[in-house]
Amino acid sequence: MNTSDVNSHDYIVVGAGTAGCVLAARLSEDPAIRVCLIEAGGWDRHPFIHVPALVGAAIAQRSLNWRFMTEPQAALDHRRIPLPRGRVIGGSGSINGMVYFRGQPQDYDEWAAAGNPGWSWREVLPYFLRSEDNPEQRGSPYHGQGGPIRVAHIPKPNPLNHVFLEAFAQVGGYPACDDFTGPKPEGYGLRQGTIRAGRRDSSAAAYLRPAKSRSNLTVLTGARVLRVLIESGRASGVEALVQGERRRILAGRETVLCAGALQSPQLLMLSGVGPPEELQRHGIEVRYAAAGVGAHYRDHLSVPVTMETSDTQSYGLSWRTLPRAALNLAQYAFGRHGPLASNVFESTAFIRSHPGADRPDLQMVFQPARRNRGSFPLPLGHGFVINSVGLYPRSRGRILLAGADPFAAPRVEANLLADRADLAPLLAGLKLARRLFAAPAFARYRALEVTPGPAIRSDADLEAYVRRMAATVHHPLSTCRMGADGDAVVDAELRVRGVAALRVVDGSIFPVMIGGNTNAPIVMVAEKAADLMLGRPPPAPVAGT
Ligand SMILES: Cc1cc2nc3c(=O)[nH]c(=O)nc-3n(C[C@H](O)[C@H](O)[C@H](O)COP(=O)(O)OP(=O)(O)OC[C@H]3O[C@@H](n4cnc5c(N)ncnc54)[C@H](O)[C@@H]3O)c2cc1C
Repeated sequence: MNTSDVNSHDYIVVGAGTAGCVLAARLSEDPAIRVCLIEAGGWDRHPFIHVPALVGAAIAQRSLNWRFMTEPQAALDHRRIPLPRGRVIGGSGSINGMVYFRGQPQDYDEWAAAGNPGWSWREVLPYFLRSEDNPEQRGSPYHGQGGPIRVAHIPKPNPLNHVFLEAFAQVGGYPACDDFTGPKPEGYGLRQGTIRAGRRDSSAAAYLRPAKSRSNLTVLTGARVLRVLIESGRASGVEALVQGERRRILAGRETVLCAGALQSPQLLMLSGVGPPEELQRHGIEVRYAAAGVGAHYRDHLSVPVTMETSDTQSYGLSWRTLPRAALNLAQYAFGRHGPLASNVFESTAFIRSHPGADRPDLQMVFQPARRNRGSFPLPLGHGFVINSVGLYPRSRGRILLAGADPFAAPRVEANLLADRADLAPLLAGLKLARRLFAAPAFARYRALEVTPGPAIRSDADLEAYVRRMAATVHHPLSTCRMGADGDAVVDAELRVRGVAALRVVDGSIFPVMIGGNTNAPIVMVAEKAADLMLGRPPPAPVAGT
């Protein structure tokens, strides 16, 4: 087995996903620090990655997606639920929906209250701002300018978004929100995305690409980490398959797992850090017994109300809109604008599903397009969808090993909807979506409900529909939880308990769920991790927040 020079790198970062690209770029800003970033996938060259409207087509590319599945889900009609994950530079951030959202301020105050000093809303907000380049909201203490990632509204949203917002006003009872990253992200409104000049602004594009030519940063692609090397309670690097050759790659200072919420716990277990009974079951020597590794898995579930119409205003292709499609193609090809420059998720609502909720627990995601059918990159025909997403599920699952083989997929016992309480926001969302589509604003579209379909009315039938149709919105979290309790895997500085020189920096460390999309919060985690690792003092809280 080849061994790269001892201490030829100070830091090894495993996984060039959302977190890994941020961390490797920040660490290597100091030319004296040598960083090696190791990614199983290749460079993000596929054109579907970069054209925002082709997000569905990017997800469908086998070469870009690990295509994991849950185990059969008892509460979801025993279906196995797809778990797409990016396998490419940029990771899941290279195939995601480009929606920008931070969560609710209370979410982070709960992180701090769970024994994680430094992670309250006021303390993490400066890291969100540091990562942000927002041209629209200058002067707002809640927005940053000049950071790497462009955050902005879609310049010309499809007019159907305004119909959706008008329907909300007509239904009544919910506030409007003109900035979902302002002080109170609650209500209905237009939303922001991470798109720069008509192209996806992932952390690969925004952080890694500008850093790529640094002589102190090595990026290995097509390189699969098989395990962390742990000797005498200290991580010394990793064993990896690099271009078909097994190599030991050593880190003088630290090894950091950024392999995501499914694979960071898997790598820890393959390295002997995890629940002893699980490791012993697969003949893996226990190096540190950590019951919390892989535990506390959670994800956001979603269920749609889908409408079809003969009106052609929605995004999508039909014979009647072929001339428009040709124009849109030209707009994108020559100016990077028009509908192809939109991620399609242009408006939304974060609302309380019941009066007792202490913060928005239900997201209504409007899509001014029919769902894609099969592998065709754009929706065929016309319509619109409202997906209802339950934001604080109680159900907990876990990640286990399928075996000692590092090439096997992790075993995901997701336990989705195992707790009946998680049904309530989804049912409330389905009913509200129907009321919105029945509001006067939508009348002129004479749309017909395709799913659940008019025959499904009773609560029992709607519940059966949820069990038949619900899918996740790809936010797995908390499988290497940060905290102070005995079950926590990392401490508030993201150091793995029981193993020196090893950290986890990605979605797996979230101590509790956040009420929304996860990409921006993971960028924030990686920004803060860079400060923690380099011993830099935290930024001062922002005045006026
Ligand atoms: C289809 C989809 C749509 C989404 N839409 C949105 C959205 O619109 N807005 C939003 O905020 N969030 C969205 N998300 C969620 C968000 O993108 C993810 O939470 C985030 O990208 C996860 O970041 P991460 O760094 O934790 O992991 P990832 O970005 O998944 O990175 C993990 C990286 O590690 C690599 N890796 C794993 N194992 C190994 C190994 N053994 N050796 C080497 N490399 C390895 C992987 O290939 C990958 O590149 C979406 C996610 C998906 C999948």
